[in-house]
Amino acid sequence: MTRSEEPAGCVFCVAKTDGDGRQLIVHEGTLAYVILNKFPYNAGHLMVVPHRHVAQLARLESDELNEMALLTQLCERVLNDAYSPQGINVGMNLGRPAGAGIVDHLHIHLVPRWNGDTNFMTVVGEVRVLPEELPRTAERLRPLFHGLAPKLS
Ligand SMILES: [Zn+2]
Repeated sequence: MTRSEEPAGCVFCVAKTDGDGRQLIVHEGTLAYVILNKFPYNAGHLMVVPHRHVAQLARLESDELNEMALLTQLCERVLNDAYSPQGINVGMNLGRPAGAGIVDHLHIHLVPRWNGDTNFMTVVGEVRVLPEELPRTAERLRPLFHGLAPKLS
């Protein structure tokens, strides 16, 4: 997809060029990137997003799927290193009834979890009190991504 096909109003398409969005991006891959959720459920709530504006898994190419899986694996390692969570939710909400906040550009959520959290069904789409300032989270996670990323290939 060429840049001209990217919808101007899509936060995930805009994030790469938008100042606010760039602050939230913690790692960039070739076909996908990792961004902090602006309204995190917990500190370290990450999203793996394909560069292409795609709503359905079926429309992703296999190399995009592969990179998203590798980035999800990388996110797991970074979150474990940074926060030592007791669990991590990994998942996608495809379509509005499934809970997607941004329906047209799919993304994988990773939410670090600790005993005592509420269940996963309430995770996505809620606005929570920030447990950690986002710029601080980004500062903390970027070097971890940088350090771990080469080991994946
Ligand atoms: Zn988009």
